[in-house]
Amino acid sequence: MKSISVVGSGTMGNGIAHIFAQHGYEVSLIDIKSEFLEKALTTISKNMDRQLAKGAISQEEKDASLSRISTFTSLEDGVKQADLVVEAATENMTLKLDIFRQLDQFSPPKAILASNTSSISITKIAAVTKRPTQVIGMHFMNPVPVMKLVEVIRGYATSDEVTKTVMNLSRNLSKDPVEVNDYPGFVANRILMPMINEAIYSLFEGVAGVAEIDTVMKLGMAHPMGPLQLADFIGLDVCLSILKVLHEGFGNPKYAPCPLLVNMVEAGFKGVKTGEGFYQYTVGSKELVVAPRFFK
Ligand code: NAD
Repeated sequence: MKSISVVGSGTMGNGIAHIFAQHGYEVSLIDIKSEFLEKALTTISKNMDRQLAKGAISQEEKDASLSRISTFTSLEDGVKQADLVVEAATENMTLKLDIFRQLDQFSPPKAILASNTSSISITKIAAVTKRPTQVIGMHFMNPVPVMKLVEVIRGYATSDEVTKTVMNLSRNLSKDPVEVNDYPGFVANRILMPMINEAIYSLFEGVAGVAEIDTVMKLGMAHPMGPLQLADFIGLDVCLSILKVLHEGFGNPKYAPCPLLVNMVEAGFKGVKTGEGFYQYTVGSKELVVAPRFFK
């Protein structure tokens, strides 16, 4: 594996490009507009500066890593040399199925096609290609350069060989991969989202306030962040859409999204990205400014 293409240069895509480039791979980073790609390169450079300041990398390593990243607005041009494609485009089923049809058409027949999806079925994505044995989930965590886990998701048809290659590749990136099967929410979100939903239900039913719920989980369970603040960071719209996938996929009412979460998303209170969710934030920053406005 030498040449990696990353589709989508947003929050996850720029982090994925960052770590591959830093580990010596040639990276083709693809997005629909050149200004998105420029922004991604600026973010990668800033994140590398942080590593530089901590002494984790040298200036030479930073320069060499950046020089290994090329950018493309044409999917066809960006994937034609790829040994592996990691798709990290917007979480939308129709969009992802369309991207995978194109990846199948334009990338070399041997290339492995991976998706960073949080919740869409890998089996379903693989089924639109003519190479379902070579389609797999590579679920990186945010922020990618910092978080050690890669959830490697085997679709129904993914081969042993492809799974082994992707597990080894993840280790080459200094990550700790974990192999899981393709069922709704995989493992990470199947466990995390019901906990977040239950925290929202506890608030909705008046069991306790925002600060109290988060404090119980931080101090009592040694979680670095309470579930309501974590939901704000992930995005309440993202939490809602993953809960819908779990609810629909298992047909079990225990996954039904809390009506308070539904209301907040409909009202546009989506967490850090909109400046307010369960807490208020300085717009454009992740810094928590004040305690909740609506909920005590
Ligand atoms: P984002 O909105 O920050 O970035 C998505 C990027 O994809 C945008 O730059 C967009 O322009 C680009 N894009 C859209 N259509 C495209 C196309 N046809 N071709 C190329 N690029 C296209 O989203 P994100 O948070 O980086 O999420 C990306 C994926 O990663 C999603 O599947 C999401 O579920 C998953 N994920 C996100 C997180 C997270 O914490 N943000 C964590 C794990 C997994």
